[in-house]
Amino acid sequence: MLRGEKPASKSRDLKVLNRLLVRETIRRQGPIARHEVAKLTGLTPPTVTVIVNELLAEGVVREIGFGESTGGRRPVMLALNPRAGDVFAVRIQRGQAVTALLDLGAEVLASQVLRLESHLPGEVVEAVVGSCGQLLEATGIRLGDVFWCGVASPGLVDSSCGLVARSSNLDWENVPLGKMLSERLGEIPVHVENISNAAAVGERLFGSGRGCPNLIYLNLSVGIGAGIVINGEIFGGARGYAGEVGHMVLVPEGGPRCACGREGCFEALCGARTVLEKAKEVLDEEVLKRYGLKKDDLTIAEVVSRPLVELPEIQEILAEVGAMVGIALANLVSLFNPEMVVLGGELARAGSVLLEPATRVAKERALGEIVNPVRFVLSGMSQDPPLMGAYALALEKIFQVDDWRTRPLRTASFARG
Ligand SMILES: [Zn+2]
Repeated sequence: MLRGEKPASKSRDLKVLNRLLVRETIRRQGPIARHEVAKLTGLTPPTVTVIVNELLAEGVVREIGFGESTGGRRPVMLALNPRAGDVFAVRIQRGQAVTALLDLGAEVLASQVLRLESHLPGEVVEAVVGSCGQLLEATGIRLGDVFWCGVASPGLVDSSCGLVARSSNLDWENVPLGKMLSERLGEIPVHVENISNAAAVGERLFGSGRGCPNLIYLNLSVGIGAGIVINGEIFGGARGYAGEVGHMVLVPEGGPRCACGREGCFEALCGARTVLEKAKEVLDEEVLKRYGLKKDDLTIAEVVSRPLVELPEIQEILAEVGAMVGIALANLVSLFNPEMVVLGGELARAGSVLLEPATRVAKERALGEIVNPVRFVLSGMSQDPPLMGAYALALEKIFQVDDWRTRPLRTASFARG
């Protein structure tokens, strides 16, 4: 039921359900003819005609030419109008945010990469809100046409209320991110999801995982996390915190200290910060100078890309990290029996130097019946996987609501405070 609505009568409930059914059928199956919609939904042709006329009048669906004749006149084909509304999608991490406006057909209309000077929640929210204002201005889209906002955030995220319960990456505790953003964006509903979960959804819908209902996305960045998709749904556990594999213990005694305060965590051994530190230890200042680089300013992106990634000392570090990733994957694959494992995040840009040892060790360390059929791949999406996942999750919310015309008129001030 929509907010502020009175309890609906039974016949009204039924009408809403039928509208949702017709719209969803056109969205999933379009371009599609009216008689096909009737056949697939089990509704009578006159009912379908009435609903389609409403949806056409609202601009939610559109007619896009003629289909093949099955004997009589050629049928008019219907499809969802991707321009019927928009989604504001955001991916946050320490130091950076990616924002985008997308239409209902997953087309990115405009996007921005923001440098975040501060990781304080209020400042991050202001930066994201400011970016939304700029994207709206650049595209000429009104805030009122932005139906929903989807956010991918690191850390333990309670998606049911948009709370970031804890993020060692952002140094946040109990930040009501969804509420804060919604208040500053004219009360747009906001869905917040853990970054690895969102990336898994992004890969499954738009990347290597298309058509693969059981997959694990391993996000190898400063933080390490897994998005676990089982039967097409994110596996969140009791509070949505499942997949925090960065803090699985891989060294029981005397391991390196982790950002979470414990020792021997997967993330402390293999996170981007550790890899960068190790690279700095072995790289010679003179060698770096040859490539116009300096040890103090070195970034993980430089370490995992050419020319540094081709140096034997860096390959050795990445092979060690890859082997450790393989152990973690052997455990994950044994637990969840996926069809596919996608390696993503900053470290995955190293490519086969990392993927090859990870795959080899995973196959050595898990039972053949479980691990041999698994496809281990690198994320190859042109768009940011967490951003696209955050978008897709927000989109699902939009399509659960029937009457898009009841959207409130929204106003927001985008000036940075
Ligand atoms: Zn830890």
